[in-house]
Amino acid sequence: MKKIVMSLKVVCLFLICLLLSQALEAETRGVENGQRYARLVIRNVIVIDGKGTPPRGPLDIIVEGNKIQSIQGASRDEKSYEKEEHIIDGTGMYLLPGLINIHAHLHDSRAGIALPFEYSYKLWLACGITTIRDVGSNYEKTIEERRKSQEGLIAAPRIFLYMSAGGGTPEEIRQRIQEAKKKGADGIKIFGMDRDIMKAALDEAHKLSLRVAHHVAVEETDAWDDAAFGVSSIEHWYGVPDAALHGSQKFPPSYNFNNESDRFRYGGRLWREADPEKLGKVLQTLVEKGVAWCPTFVIYEANRDLMRAMNQPWFKDYLHPALEEYFKPNPAFHGSYFWNWTTTDEVFWRENYKIWMDAVRKFADKGGVVGVGEDAGFIYMLYGFSVVRELELHQEAGFHPIDVVQNATGNNAKILGMEERLGRVRQDYLADLILVDENPLENFKYLYPTGFMGFDKEGELAQRGGIKWTIKDGIIYHAPTMLADVKKIVEKARQEFQGKK
Ligand SMILES: [Zn+2]
Repeated sequence: MKKIVMSLKVVCLFLICLLLSQALEAETRGVENGQRYARLVIRNVIVIDGKGTPPRGPLDIIVEGNKIQSIQGASRDEKSYEKEEHIIDGTGMYLLPGLINIHAHLHDSRAGIALPFEYSYKLWLACGITTIRDVGSNYEKTIEERRKSQEGLIAAPRIFLYMSAGGGTPEEIRQRIQEAKKKGADGIKIFGMDRDIMKAALDEAHKLSLRVAHHVAVEETDAWDDAAFGVSSIEHWYGVPDAALHGSQKFPPSYNFNNESDRFRYGGRLWREADPEKLGKVLQTLVEKGVAWCPTFVIYEANRDLMRAMNQPWFKDYLHPALEEYFKPNPAFHGSYFWNWTTTDEVFWRENYKIWMDAVRKFADKGGVVGVGEDAGFIYMLYGFSVVRELELHQEAGFHPIDVVQNATGNNAKILGMEERLGRVRQDYLADLILVDENPLENFKYLYPTGFMGFDKEGELAQRGGIKWTIKDGIIYHAPTMLADVKKIVEKARQEFQGKK
């Protein structure tokens, strides 16, 4: 008798499990790559939002057109979505706001070899990037690309365009900024300006409500000027330790800024010369003045570990020959300065990273906004993959993975002035979302579209993770399909390139 009761219990338990799993296993249906639907239901997902809060769920997200219409507790009643035509089953998946790449460049050629925009677009989408901020490209082309992306005519992230203010007299700079505004710039990028010119540039940009991104170089101005004139974001890092020196950096007499070998070698010895006390004041002032910081750790990584940078596993299938040629040491190409690069240079750069990362972390602790960007297309960095690597480097800098996600989503939206529409999983926000079938907080490597080797549930070695769906402006992209397209582009380009050789 006892045995029968037991087996009845087992049967009941089994039935309950079966029912439960059926209720939860909503199938994905009516969803195609490249489509936007009047109504899409994403069921049963765990959400990692872009505001620095821990995961929550399971939740059901309703997307209508290009907007998040509602977010609610996951329904266990199969009938509640019986009549829905378009459903993504998110069981076991994590949903995040689409990643924003705050420092990007649209390149349509490298080393004189054509590189289709489609290549970088699909890499970005495959890596979950739904928005890029272009801080330097061919603007006529980028304006057109931005329009096509806005209208959903191409598979591409949203594009925000920050046009270069160039050089010249203060009056010329003002004119150029006015022209940029007329052309439809979303912001201005400045680089290598003298102080009076930078002051005029910022004054003009503010009058026109344009945000300004400053690629600070070794120049007259530094982070004190960024704070004084009201720059929106510091790109990279140079001007920050510069502002904490006592006089010039200890350059050798032979140093020449235009020699990139010199520039990047001695860049690696800059942070160690910053006075920690003065640096603390610089960081505090930047925070008080609301200057954000986009450190782009990833783009200098070759400096501390050249072999790593040269041998990234995705190069095998996804490195376009145009980039392959461009990355080879060549004084004619920006960022291809690795002739005579030494072990000593790498040792200095490792120390440089430690102090730099510590400064970025302290800046955030004081309340500063830190963003995530890649600057790919230079220095062995591949579009998209470098953004995921940047997340890993933010974690290395001491950010909790939850805060790293915020840096790449909510914070980046803030830097763009789009924090009320982008960077969050929130009602009425634009439907820019990504779904990944492993927990990225456990391991950011799961966000690489190639996934990461691990044991699966059956105890077999398999590629785990990889983004499954990237939704931009309500348009659903199947991330593995995007990556497969990139592979085809590369195969074809390699054949053509071999033929020409
Ligand atoms: Zn750049």
